[in-house]
Amino acid sequence: MKQQPRSQKAQKLIERMAKKLNRQMVGSLTACVHCGLCTDSCHYVLTNPDDPTYAPAYKADRVRKIFKRHFDWTGRVIPWWVGAESPTTDEDLAELKDIAFGKCTNCRRCTINCPMGVDFAVVNRMMRGLLVSVGVMPEGVAVVSKDQWEIGNQMGVLKEEYLETLEWMSEELSGELDDPGAVIPVDLMDADVVYSINPREVKYDPRSIADAAKIFHIAGEKWTMPSEGWDMTNFGLFSGDDDLGGAVARRLYDKVTELRGRKLVISECGHGYRSTRCEGPNWAGMDVPFVMESSVNTMLRYIREGRITVDKTRNTTPVTFHDSCNNARSCGLYEEPRELLNLVVTDFREMYPNRSENYCCTGGGGAMSMSEYTPRRLKSAKVKADQLAATGASVVVTSCHNCVDGLSDCIRHYKLNMQVTQLVNLVANAIVVPARVAVPAAVEPAAAPVHLSLAGRRILVVDDEPDVLVYYTAVLEDNGATVLEAADGDTALAIARREKPDLITLDLSMPGTDGGKVFEALRHDPDLASIRVCIITGRPELRRLIYDRPVPPPEGYLDKPVDEETLLLNVKKILEVH
Ligand code: SF4
Ligand code: SF4
Repeated sequence: MKQQPRSQKAQKLIERMAKKLNRQMVGSLTACVHCGLCTDSCHYVLTNPDDPTYAPAYKADRVRKIFKRHFDWTGRVIPWWVGAESPTTDEDLAELKDIAFGKCTNCRRCTINCPMGVDFAVVNRMMRGLLVSVGVMPEGVAVVSKDQWEIGNQMGVLKEEYLETLEWMSEELSGELDDPGAVIPVDLMDADVVYSINPREVKYDPRSIADAAKIFHIAGEKWTMPSEGWDMTNFGLFSGDDDLGGAVARRLYDKVTELRGRKLVISECGHGYRSTRCEGPNWAGMDVPFVMESSVNTMLRYIREGRITVDKTRNTTPVTFHDSCNNARSCGLYEEPRELLNLVVTDFREMYPNRSENYCCTGGGGAMSMSEYTPRRLKSAKVKADQLAATGASVVVTSCHNCVDGLSDCIRHYKLNMQVTQLVNLVANAIVVPARVAVPAAVEPAAAPVHLSLAGRRILVVDDEPDVLVYYTAVLEDNGATVLEAADGDTALAIARREKPDLITLDLSMPGTDGGKVFEALRHDPDLASIRVCIITGRPELRRLIYDRPVPPPEGYLDKPVDEETLLLNVKKILEVH
């Protein structure tokens, strides 16, 4: 039988897999002995007992087959014997997408139950990243990733909205404490604590910001919140895109460094904590020059050190605790939240199983952003609903904003009489407010350091709008780049042939030879095909036309208008400069 030619995307995915095969990955791809001990660990299996395609080992095998076919000698020599297979068509990739994004929340419960040390979640994250790199992903993943790349946070919160929310919460706090000095300091230099949050707090839960501010203020902390780079969440963890992970983490680390902060405190968010504290330095390739801790540890420390006093009789409702997969299984935060809970509530009831054996909220791994899998997610949430109901508590506490959403959905769907809250809310409610608190003096922000990170890079800017041309040129030159300019497609091609720039930013709609034709001409010319291209267009509807062309896709794609930060971030990403 004649074999189908491999699709471009499938070919790229296989090629890119080679770069991901470190020791940890290969270990997980080769160590499975198919004992099946992990099977019942998975909440998808427990709620779909008749469907073997949900078993962790089955899901891992879909990736393992590709590894064997291309990177293991047994699969290259006797593929039929070892079950080696590789994806050929885009339909094959769609099937992999369904597994990687729709049948696993990367919760790692199967990992801790594998006697061979197979970490399927790591394998699954790799597959997600490979699929994302060839443009195969749920739409929600594409949208959230784009927001985090371009706007700087997962929920597209604009800087004004963020700062207005801080101002609003600052006023609330001053009013509540009847103390004009009780405010949220922004960009305070040399603070002992820089506090970073999840954009969900700005959008849906600003009270958590005010509660944290109340605790910092009463503890007499010299603290601040950054005006930019404040999002400690990182969609790179979910999408498997290490470049996104590194860029997001670096943004936060750079801001804390600029403010000369001594400690970065991460508000209650499991994936934010894991990304920022545990994975981020590796993705960003940075030595982070300050300490990082979860706000759970900070609050506990304040109580232990006598900096705040709490009265647990203010929280008498029966509560249980849900361990976030990322905080607990992946980062070892098991006992601190329990110790803190027992200090601020009178009736704490464990949920079973708990700690490393707790089940995922079922909204983890970015599942809340993938609406096409919602029915599957809610079906698997039955495991969680049973666990919650068995506690008899009326409040479930969790140190993760993602889990707040996952649990709330589960509670709504299974009609449980429960509410979800976080430790910061309980501590703020239990805190005893002293007469008046001394506030550390503010220091003026330092001037931002000058970055010439594009020095030595040659960039051709192509746009028929003169003011856009001037604007992009100024931004890129201010950052050290040597900029060439073209106002139409023919001039752009002539300059590209003559100068061979490192990058071309390319408008699409231009008189004469339009950007689409220029792009195709570049890709078809062996001398120019390796020049990196970032499309920047005011016509987002042309995206499909660009990506559907039978040539390698552009290295970047931005919708106009593009602000300075977005332009620089994307140019640096494409040129791989930090
Ligand atoms: S427990 Fe480990 S070795 Fe056994 S089937 Fe699962 S992944 Fe494979
Ligand atoms: S990581 Fe979690 S969701 Fe994924 S297969 Fe393992 S137990 Fe199931």
